[in-house]
Amino acid sequence: MGRSDRNGELAGRVALITGAARGMGAAEARLLHASGAAVVITDLLAEEGAALAAELGDGALFVEHDVTDEKQWQATVDAAVRRFGRLDVLVNNAGIYSTRPLVEETAERFELLYRVNLIGPFLGIKAVVPALRAAGGGSIVNISSTAGMTAFPAHAAYGAAKWAMRGLTRVAALELGPDRIRVNSVHPGAVSTPMIADIVRRAENGKQSGPSPLRRFGEPEEVAELVLFLASDRSSYINGGEFAVDGGTLAGRDA
Ligand code: NAD
Repeated sequence: MGRSDRNGELAGRVALITGAARGMGAAEARLLHASGAAVVITDLLAEEGAALAAELGDGALFVEHDVTDEKQWQATVDAAVRRFGRLDVLVNNAGIYSTRPLVEETAERFELLYRVNLIGPFLGIKAVVPALRAAGGGSIVNISSTAGMTAFPAHAAYGAAKWAMRGLTRVAALELGPDRIRVNSVHPGAVSTPMIADIVRRAENGKQSGPSPLRRFGEPEEVAELVLFLASDRSSYINGGEFAVDGGTLAGRDA
């Protein structure tokens, strides 16, 4: 996709996307870049992240970054501002997934899921606020999950972290709104990425239909469209909102 294919609606803007070396984060980086934004791709996966930044070329920077590390957050934001002069958008996308029956779950794994999926995004919000304020406002998009809107068995740790992210989003929306910083959460259903490759493969082998009323898995690009909308001025009065992109999975549940 060329840089002008999306009317340049993010021209002049700078977006930092965590966990963007692959999966949904990579799709978001591609789409925001195609919409004119400079993108800062961060991830633990240095090879894949650097390759994506090289492929996008102008207006893309890779920074190796562990979202659980507060010092690295500061260095990453500094690198973004040094390279592109400002920061307007944060997409808290990095995450890890694991499921286990509640009685078999351990405190160590529970804490790990919390650290990456909740404390990481919290540290990210803290780290970017000064730069977003300096830019006159901005948009923060937190990637939660349908598991943050309803209950699934074996999702105690993952689900609790993703529900908590919803709470974090709302508090941030209240506190940062006066600075013209909007904060919203996105709740994908099952999306075909490396994170759930085994689940997708098993469904395909078993010739099962996809896990949604649309009878298929979502694609990362379909989540990226919503992230672009929330990052852009088209969503200028949307703050503290929660948006499912799940093919209708939640429609039959009380969320
Ligand atoms: P993915 O595993 O393909 O990508 C996640 C990326 O995050 C990876 O590149 C990984 O290296 C990175 N990451 C993990 N821990 C990190 C850390 N500590 N610091 C920095 N980067 C780290 O997964 P995905 O499916 O693209 O997931 C993206 C987000 O969407 C996650 O927050 C996930 O929980 C959420 N989500 C995924 C699905 C799904 O079905 N795939 C559904 C709902 C929500």
